[in-house]
Amino acid sequence: MTSLRLIGAGALLLASALAYADPCKIAIESNDLMQFNAREIVVPASCSEVELTLSHSGKLSARIMGHDWVLARDSDMSGIVNAGLAAGASRGYLPDSDKRIIAATRIVGGGESTTVKFSTAGLVQGTRYAFFCTTPGHSAMMHGMFEFGARARLAEARK
Ligand code: ZN
Repeated sequence: MTSLRLIGAGALLLASALAYADPCKIAIESNDLMQFNAREIVVPASCSEVELTLSHSGKLSARIMGHDWVLARDSDMSGIVNAGLAAGASRGYLPDSDKRIIAATRIVGGGESTTVKFSTAGLVQGTRYAFFCTTPGHSAMMHGMFEFGARARLAEARK
C-alpha cells in the first residue's frame, strides 16, 4: 500500500512539473553529426501558435554543417527537399514562397540558434506532418514526425 502511495505522489509531481513548461514552445537541437535530438514533436491542439527554437550544438560552420528546420506534410518532404536543392545555398536551400512549407527556420551553424513562430490555424489534427533539414543530403538522417493534437487528446482521456 505504501509503495502505491509513493507512485501516486510521483505521478502528481511529474504532472505539476509538466504544467509549468509551455507546450507551445519547442526546443530542438542539431549537431555536427547531422542529427536532430528529437524524432518526434507533439504540439497540443490548444496551441494557436508554436514557437520553435533550433540550436546547433556543434562547432562546424553553417557553410559546412548548416541545418534548418522545415515543417510540411509528410508527403511533401521529398518534393521540398528537391526544390531546396534547386534553390541552392544562396537561398538557404529553401524554395521561395512554396505553399507546401508550413514553417521554416533559417540555416544555423555551430553555436548558433534561431527561432520561428507559426500559427497552427492551417494544421489538421490526425494529418501526418514531418520536420526535416533541407541542406543537401541531410534529410535522410535529419527528419522526424510532427503531431498536432494527437498526444494531447490521449492525455485528456487519461484524466
Ligand atoms: Zn542538416
